[in-house]
Amino acid sequence: MDVTLLGTGGPLPDAHRAGPATLVRVAGANLLIDAGRGVLMRLSAAGLGVGQVHAVFLTHLHSDHITDLGDLITTRWITSFTPSPLPVFGPVGTAKILDDLVASLEADVSYRMGHHEDLSWVPPIEVTEVDVSGTDIVEVWQAGDVVVTAAATDHRPVHPSIAFRVDHAGSSAVLAGDTVPCGGLDALSAGAGALVHTVIRKDLIEAIPIQRLQDTLDYHSSPEQAGDTAQRAGVGTLVLTHYVPAPGPGEIEQWKDLAATTFDGPIAAGDDLLTVTI
Ligand SMILES: [Zn+2]
Repeated sequence: MDVTLLGTGGPLPDAHRAGPATLVRVAGANLLIDAGRGVLMRLSAAGLGVGQVHAVFLTHLHSDHITDLGDLITTRWITSFTPSPLPVFGPVGTAKILDDLVASLEADVSYRMGHHEDLSWVPPIEVTEVDVSGTDIVEVWQAGDVVVTAAATDHRPVHPSIAFRVDHAGSSAVLAGDTVPCGGLDALSAGAGALVHTVIRKDLIEAIPIQRLQDTLDYHSSPEQAGDTAQRAGVGTLVLTHYVPAPGPGEIEQWKDLAATTFDGPIAAGDDLLTVTI
């Protein structure tokens, strides 16, 4: 199982980091978790086109995690020669987002269908809303021996939010999204080969006197909190992503050092397209 960080950036545009998105490649399945800014550019750099994505999983509906969904939908549509529905899994509310998004594409859809005689279908999407709470774990996707499960996370007031776990032949990875430590993530992460966790440096954000930044402190995890979760769950490797604020050159080691204060195992963090093999 290969886990590739397609985008390690936060909400603010960054010349070197795309928005949050992670690719899991296992047993022929290409699974995309979140669809932040630049996801298709990074997917291309990883050697894949959107037509090769088997399913998209959204951890929550914050704009920075879904902002390039429209690119996924239209690019898959105009590069398919037969209808190729894009399966999208996300928390309750995902169906409305997708309906509204497709509605916003109405002009483009009419232009292209009017111009290309062989393009006779509108962008097909299969939305499944994942309704899970507490410490319950539900199965959401399966193909062959690859199974994806989900559990609730705690990103309140952004609610609901969920994490996903991919399992195959004894390998596993959990994709946490944005969350504070919580029972749902602990349960889902138990014994996982890797935990991919978004992190913000609370020590740095606290020093910036902007209330809108201060507001982000209470619904994200610090590297130390991500390490705590990984330690409690006994995961193999902790993978840090979605760095806020963006680390400068050479600074990523500080993030790993902070997570290492609470987690004994190996920690991976770095630039976009970092791949961790589990
Ligand atoms: Zn968020």
